[in-house]
Amino acid sequence: MISVNSTDFLHESIRDHIISSEKVAHVQIGNNAEHALLVLTKTGYSSIPVLDPQYRLKGLLSMGMITEAILGLERIEYERLSGMKVDELMQTDVPVIGINTEFRRVFDLLINHPFLCVEDEEEMFAGIMTRRVLMKKLKKAVYTMPR
Ligand code: AMP
Repeated sequence: MISVNSTDFLHESIRDHIISSEKVAHVQIGNNAEHALLVLTKTGYSSIPVLDPQYRLKGLLSMGMITEAILGLERIEYERLSGMKVDELMQTDVPVIGINTEFRRVFDLLINHPFLCVEDEEEMFAGIMTRRVLMKKLKKAVYTMPR
């Protein structure tokens, strides 16, 4: 859809603006925490989705959740990483939006979350909508507003 007014994008679907699932770094249910820490460190992302083998979203995992779990009384107990599964550590209460959600619906959620997980019509993980994408859309709208 071609926007005429700068705020027309608010009624556009996010569908064409998400980072699609194949480009999203993720871990799978059953992976151990050591692998997850490696993915988080290598990608530099603050948190990543946890998916099942059918590509359904099961939760989110952050570096903080991992370090919290291996925090001993006097030191971080890295040796415990390989024995822990991401399933035990992940956050399961995750906001999810549908792939046809309009931009105007994602503002509230993106205030509190750096990205939102997106599901398709079959409730499969389709990708993520990031705060960065919304900010870019907003910036364009603001710069093309009549004075
Ligand atoms: P950004 O808006 O690009 O700074 O991304 C915000 C957050 O979204 C990152 O810290 C990650 O948690 C997540 N994210 C962005 N891109 C990806 C990606 N390709 N794979 C996994 N997570 C991502």
